[in-house]
Amino acid sequence: MRIKCPYCGERGNDEFSYLGDASVKRPDPSAADASDAFYAFAYERKNVAGPMQELWYHAAGCHAWLVVTRDTRTHEISDVKPAQDVALEQQKTASAP
Ligand SMILES: [Zn+2]
Repeated sequence: MRIKCPYCGERGNDEFSYLGDASVKRPDPSAADASDAFYAFAYERKNVAGPMQELWYHAAGCHAWLVVTRDTRTHEISDVKPAQDVALEQQKTASAP
């Protein structure tokens, strides 16, 4: 499998470290159900069969965190974005009226 890093270009997946699902959100630690929410955050993950957003770290390259959209059935990669850009888009969406 090859991943097209936005900064370095296309590279083998052995240059990257996989961190998992990029769609999970860290729970609010001050919430009344924080203990259950953190348990679910850490251990209850979806086993997606199809397109999934994943976090990858370019450890042997530019050290960028990336959000890779990959089909888990075929390993086809349809999108790669810097994680910081995805986070900024999510902040804009969350703060929009
Ligand atoms: Zn890179």
